[in-house]
Amino acid sequence: MRTKKGMKCLCGKTAVETHVNIDGFKIKAWKCESCDEEYLDGDEAQFLLMMKKMQKKPHTAKVGVLGDSYIIRIPKEIVDYMQIKKGEKTKISLAGPHEILVSVNA
Ligand SMILES: [Zn+2]
Repeated sequence: MRTKKGMKCLCGKTAVETHVNIDGFKIKAWKCESCDEEYLDGDEAQFLLMMKKMQKKPHTAKVGVLGDSYIIRIPKEIVDYMQIKKGEKTKISLAGPHEILVSVNA
């Protein structure tokens, strides 16, 4: 049972909203201050599973050309998750012989 302030823990006390870090992903959760039990938010836990899948199975994107620039489209799921906005600054670096690292909001 979830309320604005918290959700009821199995121990009978109230678990309060918090965030937990799972493999670098910040997930909304509920933590009981009485017994230390943690509950992940259902929607965000689902989202985490999707992100983990995306990490294992990368999207494919073709390199396009726009004027003198080379462009790669970012999958919508990633844009939504990272809340990337038009005009946002990114850092692009070479991560390895065949990898480019793009940092956003970093
Ligand atoms: Zn509890």
